[in-house]
Amino acid sequence: MSFCTNCGEELTQKYLENEGMIPYCPHCREFRFPMFNAAISAIVYNPAGDRIILIRQYGRDRNILVAGYINKGESAEHTLVREVKEELGLNVTAYTFNASRYFENSNTLMINFACQVDSDSLEHMNQEEVDYAAWYTPHEAKEKILQGSLAQKFLLKWLDKSMYYGREDVKERKKILCFGDSNTYGYNPENGVRFSRDFRWTGRLQKLLGRDYEIVEEGCNGRTTVIADREEPWKSGEASLRAILNSHKPLDMVILMLGTNDMKKQYHASARDIASGAEELVEIIQTFTKMKQDHCPEILLVSPPALRPGISQSPFGDSFSEDAIAVSEQLGPLYQEVALKKRCHFVDAAGIIVSSEEDHLHLTAEEHDKLALALADHVRRIFKKEEP
Ligand SMILES: [Zn+2]
Repeated sequence: MSFCTNCGEELTQKYLENEGMIPYCPHCREFRFPMFNAAISAIVYNPAGDRIILIRQYGRDRNILVAGYINKGESAEHTLVREVKEELGLNVTAYTFNASRYFENSNTLMINFACQVDSDSLEHMNQEEVDYAAWYTPHEAKEKILQGSLAQKFLLKWLDKSMYYGREDVKERKKILCFGDSNTYGYNPENGVRFSRDFRWTGRLQKLLGRDYEIVEEGCNGRTTVIADREEPWKSGEASLRAILNSHKPLDMVILMLGTNDMKKQYHASARDIASGAEELVEIIQTFTKMKQDHCPEILLVSPPALRPGISQSPFGDSFSEDAIAVSEQLGPLYQEVALKKRCHFVDAAGIIVSSEEDHLHLTAEEHDKLALALADHVRRIFKKEEP
């Protein structure tokens, strides 16, 4: 733009505070900001959420996204709904912003949305505007879309962002619930603060397993297997397990690591009591998921790490007596029996990690890392159907 859009005078450049050098009309004595077009483009999903539509237009043999210019006075959201209706004859039922980019060739700011429509049917498609349209899986769409185009950039960005939420991925990705206590929550023995995701074993496990897996973190400080605390009965695993299974179904695996808090002296539980508490939780997982989802998840029962001698003198000495050390050392073989009886997988964490010197109960970041490495190995083997 080199002439004033109002009077036709040649524009000069003038400094405007906070903006820099801006075209200026000396005749009108007004700034004339550069003008550009605005348009929307849309990643359109079918009602099932597993297919994306690509279209061909203007006699060209290339697949692109639905797109259209924003009219003066119109919001981008309105344009989205209008264009999808005009071009495809479909009604948008939901949409979300993805990304925007300036497209130099047509001096246009492109605003990209992902949306969902109410029907798969293309019978009301506008034959004058669209030559051809078809539904593709996200993977196919990635391959078929015009390579190097802005549409491709938008699609890749969207699919990358939606890697944990994309509907197609849900079927293929393995979802793993990690049900445990403070050692699953990631309680830092040095300061009592939660380790960040990069350091607690559940977060490490997600990184190690990658995008084919989704880790659901469910660690609650003080959680027992089935013992209901007099003051805080909600800390019992038995009290919350069903609700949590139901919230996260469908699940492909549950990793169960509990029993440490059952050893608190006020509960007077023997190693055998604790193992039978773990057994009860395994049974709940098996029977409840049978009812609530179409398959029983793999269950990986993890017997907790042993307590470190001297715990009665540690910051948790009020809760744990020195007798708990022996109990914690007996849990491994008893949990293994439970796993055999209930036909689930088993890992003895006491063989992999040790409780910290700081509080004799919780794990350092280094131990979290070791546990994650060991569990990642088990998880991969279980889904490959080899027994570790
Ligand atoms: Zn002017």
